[in-house]
Amino acid sequence: MSLAETATAHNYQPLPVVLASGQGAWVTDVDGNRYLDCLAGYSALNFGHGHPRLTAAAQEQLARLTLTSRAFHNDRLGPFCRDLAELAGMDLVLPMNTGAEAVETAIKVARKWGYERKGVAPDRATVIVADGNFHGRTTTIVSFSSDPVARDGFGPFTPGFRTVPYGDGAALEAAVDENTVAVLLEPIQGEAGVRIPPPGYLQAVRDVCTRENVLFIADEIQSGLGRTGTTFACDAEGVTPDIYVLGKALGGGIVPVSAVVSRHDVLDVIRPGSHGSTFGGNPLAAAVGHAVVELLRSGEYQARAAEFGARLRTRLEDLVGHGAVAVRSRGLWAGIDLDPTLMTGRQACMRLLDRGILAKDTHGSTIRLAPPLVIEPSQLDWLCDQLGEALTRPAD
Ligand SMILES: *Cc1c(COP(=O)(O)O)cnc(C)c1O
Repeated sequence: MSLAETATAHNYQPLPVVLASGQGAWVTDVDGNRYLDCLAGYSALNFGHGHPRLTAAAQEQLARLTLTSRAFHNDRLGPFCRDLAELAGMDLVLPMNTGAEAVETAIKVARKWGYERKGVAPDRATVIVADGNFHGRTTTIVSFSSDPVARDGFGPFTPGFRTVPYGDGAALEAAVDENTVAVLLEPIQGEAGVRIPPPGYLQAVRDVCTRENVLFIADEIQSGLGRTGTTFACDAEGVTPDIYVLGKALGGGIVPVSAVVSRHDVLDVIRPGSHGSTFGGNPLAAAVGHAVVELLRSGEYQARAAEFGARLRTRLEDLVGHGAVAVRSRGLWAGIDLDPTLMTGRQACMRLLDRGILAKDTHGSTIRLAPPLVIEPSQLDWLCDQLGEALTRPAD
């Protein structure tokens, strides 16, 4: 097996496995070894590898029309946006490609809304963000990251952001002033290690935003589209933000598809020429995204995540005191804090790799699990068995 990526920039440190094919929750390497994919492309593969309805939609569209640019209409964009807006209970969809682009778009929309609708003085708009956030990698987005590795060396940074502790509604309220146009949050912080805010937090954010005339932007790029057992992670508290930012699973693991989804009174501030993307809303992306929305409309995947997630939770809780010091989970999404005196998260992922499981560490001694929602209960049990042994048995 050759790991040689001699002409690849070193912006990642991949585990030593070279993947060649995948089906459902499983991938196979170049030597024919099979692995249960418990990262699922950071939740871009919520529906697994090669989902028949998604690949059929892609193949059909591939043969028909792939790109028109938005200079012209195409026959796939309208139906995709209509059904995605309906799924989200919103009016309009602004299609982009990557998650970071959609976050950038939401920030631009919020600023323009602030000037045109709220009457904020020119160039004074601020957006409140949370400590420990991950919203992508652009220069503006890393400007308000609290992770030095993501930030250092990339200044000068974009002004106009204010950081508050995650999960603290009172601190958020205190940070709002007349120039605040939006609060940008992950309803569950994924990269931070599946950090779940205290109950009532999202409702508190909603209440502050409503009272202060501030937009609540929920970055559901990783938490949304079935992962947590509901369509959106905000649904767990019955909270509706003003703007959903979606990505990852929206492209079915096939093509990058992201979107900003909101109401007329918010997205109408964007007019022809003020924002755009060459590939955003292309017919191939729209066909795949539409097929993803169709899968979600059935509720089947949300139900699987909720039901199997309860099973996962019970099994993970047994690991506390046996290699793990804390577990957090919602649906089929879990963060496991390992006892740092035993091993690093990377070492745990190496042990899991040897046992046929792909997972990813985050922040030192935490591992994150996000298996595809198509995983079967027996496979979930096997995963938990392997995890338990990997944490308690010495490596071979
Ligand atoms: C992955 C992610 C992004 C960035 O998405 P890209 O497609 O990698 O640009 C933004 N926000 C959250 C919450 C994410 O998990």
